Amino acid sequence: MKTEILGINFDNMTREEVNARGAQLLREDRFHYVVTPNPEFILAAEKDPEFLRVLNGADLVLPDGIGVVYSAKILGTPLKTRLPGIEFGEAMLDVLNEMEGRLFLLGAKPGVAEEAGRRILESHPNIVLCGTQDGYFKDEQEVLVKVADARPDLLFVCLGAPKQEKWMARWGQHTGAKLAIGMGGALDVFAGKVERAPEKWQKMGLEWAYRLKKEPKRIGRMAKLPLVLVKAAGERFKRN
Ligand code: UDP
Repeated sequence: MKTEILGINFDNMTREEVNARGAQLLREDRFHYVVTPNPEFILAAEKDPEFLRVLNGADLVLPDGIGVVYSAKILGTPLKTRLPGIEFGEAMLDVLNEMEGRLFLLGAKPGVAEEAGRRILESHPNIVLCGTQDGYFKDEQEVLVKVADARPDLLFVCLGAPKQEKWMARWGQHTGAKLAIGMGGALDVFAGKVERAPEKWQKMGLEWAYRLKKEPKRIGRMAKLPLVLVKAAGERFKRN
């Protein structure tokens, strides 16, 4: 079931349902892509029709971040769960490990994808790391050929939004991958360069606060969170 939040059609599923659906997509013999919008995406998509189209065209649209969950509540259409992209990605790594499948990591600064891959293989020894590529390339087509030649099943695309979503929508089906996931800064986390908030903070819905504490210069980006809530409230009044 889909739930619309300020123009974006989120999949309203439990974590178990999402993971089961992801596993199914990964085993199907055609390309699928997954997006994980947060409040910044919602505001960007308002001004960028192509980004909005690409988000709503995804096979799974997952609510990343407490701001999306609060917006849904304000709109009177609560979501069943919040599912950060990185957690969905981790669940798909488990499935890939069972399949003894092939993984390609695209994005982040030079060297980060390799280190992320090395660490992923430590916990998922049956995965074949078939390729890596940093996210600061000029020639999109050249990168496409590199990914396609590596014949991945699962592809993490970590270029930041909206670049990663547009890349997946434009080139994904030519990669031969079964499932691509747009995951922002996830490779930095997998590589141990950036730490996620401790579980206690995550459970309280305060991951954003932890991140801000660690990286105060994100304040400008995060200031968008309340703006989305205000927009959701405005929309609720209109609907009533
Ligand atoms: N990035 C990239 N290519 C670019 C711009 C960014 O590979 O042209 C990477 C960047 O190194 C970082 C991630 O994309 O690893 C950006 O993460 P962002 O902060 O947007 O995502 P979030 O942390 O919000 O998930």
